[in-house]
Amino acid sequence: RAKDGGRRQWREFEPAFRSQADRRHQVEQALGDALAAGDIEAWFQPQIDLTSREIVGFEALVRWHHPYLGPVSPPEIVAAAQAANLPDRLTATVAEAACRLLARLPSLGLPRATVAINVSPREFDLYCVPSLLDRITAAHHIDPALFEIEITEEAILDTLVSGEQLKHIERSGYKLAVDDFGAGHSSLAYLVQLKVDRLKLDRRFITGIRASRQNQEIVGAMAGLGRALSMQVVMEGVESEEEAEALKPLGIEIAQGYFFGRPMPAERIPGWIESRRAALKRAVA
Ligand code: C2E
Ligand code: MG
Ligand code: MG
Ligand code: MG
Repeated sequence: RAKDGGRRQWREFEPAFRSQADRRHQVEQALGDALAAGDIEAWFQPQIDLTSREIVGFEALVRWHHPYLGPVSPPEIVAAAQAANLPDRLTATVAEAACRLLARLPSLGLPRATVAINVSPREFDLYCVPSLLDRITAAHHIDPALFEIEITEEAILDTLVSGEQLKHIERSGYKLAVDDFGAGHSSLAYLVQLKVDRLKLDRRFITGIRASRQNQEIVGAMAGLGRALSMQVVMEGVESEEEAEALKPLGIEIAQGYFFGRPMPAERIPGWIESRRAALKRAVA
């Protein structure tokens, strides 16, 4: 009886269980063709200097809308790329798009704006990330100082595997950002040693910041840490005007989030920049 019950339970759970594994399998199967067909794109989210209100950069975020799998999330895409042994092709696709945007930014009045890509910690074990980026940025004649690499604290700490590559990143002159800072466990000594340029504070610290004395203290302390270590500090996930206004008194220089701009396809950026400039001018007049 107990056995029957157990079996029935298993049968009940099986369909959902299987469809999840099926989806993962289908995503993996479809990825190579999608990369080759150009169906996997990078969208870009702006980063704003809170004092000058200027656009100081963009972050590239991978996007894939599959005809029958629907939208495939970035974590699903990244996992599939690793399972299908295509992590370098995924990063190459996003890096190429980042370079194409970088090449256009001077003509859009943003000659010093940076473009960032995300690299997952596991990738450093699978291939040489900076060698790939060297080839791509050179082919596009991109100044590495404007090309930013975002990695999480996990990758920073994994120096046994990735130490050489982090040195290579520094040698080539890329900007280096620590993503989701404060969510993991960084060694401050490594941050200094690796000449990290930017700390991107994890979104959890902005949530409800007006009401949370504790989050205000944390964000203020991290802004101070950035100043002490000569690292720019970026607050991500800023969703409202109230949140944006809370940041400057705390010493945060740069912000990114839905309040300033959602991720958008590259072709929408020129129009977005123009309407933003027009709005700022109206606000001053
Ligand atoms: P992340 O690098 O921390 O990127 C920020 C995420 O927060 C993005 O989600 C972005 O769309 C979202 N976001 C931005 N502003 C706001 C806001 O105001 N409120 C809220 N609630 N969310 C906001 P997305 O695009 O879904 O990406 C999720 C994660 O997937 C990224 O987190 C990054 O770790 C990873 N990822 C994205 N693209 C790539 C890629 O090309 N390669 C790799 N390896 N990872 C990627
Ligand atoms: Mg990021
Ligand atoms: Mg991240
Ligand atoms: Mg982040």
